[in-house]
Amino acid sequence: MAISKEYLIQAQNELEMLRSENRRTEFKRRSEILEKIPEYGNLEIKLAESMSKVISLVAAKSPDTAEKLKAVSEENLAVQREMERLLTENGYSKDYLDQIYSCTKCRDMGTIDGKWCECLKKRAHKLAADELNKRSPLKLCSFDNFDLSFYSDVRNNGSSPREEMENNFRICKDFAENFKGNEKGLLMTGGTGLGKTHLSLAAAKRIIEKDFCVVYCSTPELLRTIDNEQFGRSQGDTMSVVTSCDLLVLDDLGAENSSERSTSLLYEIINGRLCRSLPMIINTNLSAGELNSRYSERLFSRLFSMEVLFFNGNDNRLK
Ligand SMILES: [Zn+2]
Repeated sequence: MAISKEYLIQAQNELEMLRSENRRTEFKRRSEILEKIPEYGNLEIKLAESMSKVISLVAAKSPDTAEKLKAVSEENLAVQREMERLLTENGYSKDYLDQIYSCTKCRDMGTIDGKWCECLKKRAHKLAADELNKRSPLKLCSFDNFDLSFYSDVRNNGSSPREEMENNFRICKDFAENFKGNEKGLLMTGGTGLGKTHLSLAAAKRIIEKDFCVVYCSTPELLRTIDNEQFGRSQGDTMSVVTSCDLLVLDDLGAENSSERSTSLLYEIINGRLCRSLPMIINTNLSAGELNSRYSERLFSRLFSMEVLFFNGNDNRLK
């Protein structure tokens, strides 16, 4: 999958800063230990001495080299054990002074055998997602500020709108809290102003906090952006970002201009993600019947393969 070069460069810069940060932390830790446990410094000197003994023994090539090397390496191991003991006895973990790597696979270099490491790709995707998310009010909505008291508790043929919303709220919250990146997506359908956008933004926000790569976009805007890029009117690779991020939130499906082109782009995005078991949250003001008459049979069936949440009641934005 293509990632735009600009984000790869930015991701490499981030890794470089991370490496410096880790080296600073290592330096601070070592100074702290030398100050708190002065014997540790003496052992470091001993260890260095035994290393130079090894070098001169190997260079000397005398008949008893092997025997002497064995003795030195035993001495060396004893010093290392003593160093570990000092650390643990003083309340530190025995690897407290080891080199720190945020990614142990590439040791924060971003490449393995000339190929991009997954950690670098993940960073680049996140940067691209952040750019797309800049336009959405992600910060404003959370599960904590979702007010269920707006919904009527009057029952009408079964459960009340409030009870239905409590159920939708719980499903969205569970989805976000337990998100692993391979769950069945959510399709939210119902009239405007019933909390679909709020709940999907709240879920997106929570999942971003868990360090997943989430893209939130309005359907008409997304299709316009992809069109502009594919027809060379602007730069970027939004299609690859939305088809590969950990979670895609598509707001306002059905508000885009209806055309064969938009339906086929939507099918490409939605089907592509479903085939790779990548979850989505899709919001629409259209009812099942309206979705059925607007979109192709195959797109409709993909949409309804997700868990469907119905939003009923009156527009809360009036209250
Ligand atoms: Zn890595």
